[in-house]
Amino acid sequence: MLIQGGLVLDPATGRQGQLDIRVKEGKITEFGPNLAVSPGETTVPAHGCIVAPGLVDIHVHFRDPGLTHKEDLISGSHAAAAGGFTTVVCMANTNPVPDLPERVHEFYNRAAREAVINLYTVGSVTYNLEGKQLTDFAALKKAGVVGFSDDGNPVDNPALVRHALEQAGALGLPVINHCGELALVADTIVNEGPAAKSLGLKGMPTTAEDIHVARDVHLAELTGQHVHIQHVSSATAVSIIREAKARGVKVTAEAGPHHFTLTDAALLEYGPNAKMNPPLRTPADVAAVRQGLADGTLDAIATDHAPHTVEEKAQGLLEAPCGIVGLETALGLVWTELVKPGILTPMQAIAKLTYIPANIVGLNKGTLAPGTAADITVFDPTSVWEVQPEKFFSKGRNTPFTGRRLTGKVICTIVGGRTVFQNGNIVSPVH
Ligand SMILES: [Zn+2]
Ligand SMILES: [Zn+2]
Repeated sequence: MLIQGGLVLDPATGRQGQLDIRVKEGKITEFGPNLAVSPGETTVPAHGCIVAPGLVDIHVHFRDPGLTHKEDLISGSHAAAAGGFTTVVCMANTNPVPDLPERVHEFYNRAAREAVINLYTVGSVTYNLEGKQLTDFAALKKAGVVGFSDDGNPVDNPALVRHALEQAGALGLPVINHCGELALVADTIVNEGPAAKSLGLKGMPTTAEDIHVARDVHLAELTGQHVHIQHVSSATAVSIIREAKARGVKVTAEAGPHHFTLTDAALLEYGPNAKMNPPLRTPADVAAVRQGLADGTLDAIATDHAPHTVEEKAQGLLEAPCGIVGLETALGLVWTELVKPGILTPMQAIAKLTYIPANIVGLNKGTLAPGTAADITVFDPTSVWEVQPEKFFSKGRNTPFTGRRLTGKVICTIVGGRTVFQNGNIVSPVH
């Protein structure tokens, strides 16, 4: 395969330039201007496009097993491929929970058969996400988990978080935490503020998130181990992480596209499709998340792709489940909201979507280094398109971005040298 005429941007190696890329036997083998096409070689035209490492999302919910009316490994992997993602890490709030090695083995066996991209999973921190007893981290690592998370059910007991950090750290894996003190949720997961008030809701203050972020940062400091903070949404949380990094704490953090794009005012317009956990916050919080991404406090961008059915989301703000789909709008939102306004350079944006998140979970992904698996995303950074949920490959239609015009469109997604998405279609049948 020869990818021709694109602007190669590979933050992990620093390589950038108008270069062709040759792929042989699933691996990247050669870069150069105007490489000659070998006999029988397929070509991928990339003129006017950016050729980036395949995107990496370390925070998705594929709902499989157990909740496959919302999403499954096939539909989720198709949504990822359509969004330019070649590697994702699935969270543990499935049924059953991946808290035993045999469940993790089953996940990887099925992923190999059903998914068109690279799927990984975390193991849960506690059995059945109950926050009571730590799982067998060593056994789960052996089965292939890339970290430990009870995302969605924050671990309440700080002693358990401490022991989790010690045990995961000894294995070289991160503890990946959803930060939110649920005791501070008054009625439902919306930001405590004027938008909630006008809807007759009390909501939860950013303090609920800040308390857990501070706790986890201090526990990481105490243990000397790596904590990864998910979906940072609060200005104070950004400051806490910034200060912790400055004194050498092993903390990494991610932000989601919705948290650097929308405020809680979106609740008034989009209702339950703007409800997620942590919730959309104030303009000052959005500005702080953007600043955190720009100055490196927030290392990575992760979608928290969380599909729900139309019926589930139609229950009204109080009852509707939290979460929005994110894989198919992420790159367009990053380009439109962060790169075009100059908040991130193209290289910085791609770094936060590729090798940096991969490194957080210890994966050698998200690079175009010669000899590595040819996971490649070709996208047109000038193409403008409109978000139309009915066209999503995800089963979920729950997005607050319906009708939004985004700049930056995925043209082609290549996984291990195989084209899996091209010009709007999934190419490879399920294998
Ligand atoms: Zn979460
Ligand atoms: Zn999540």
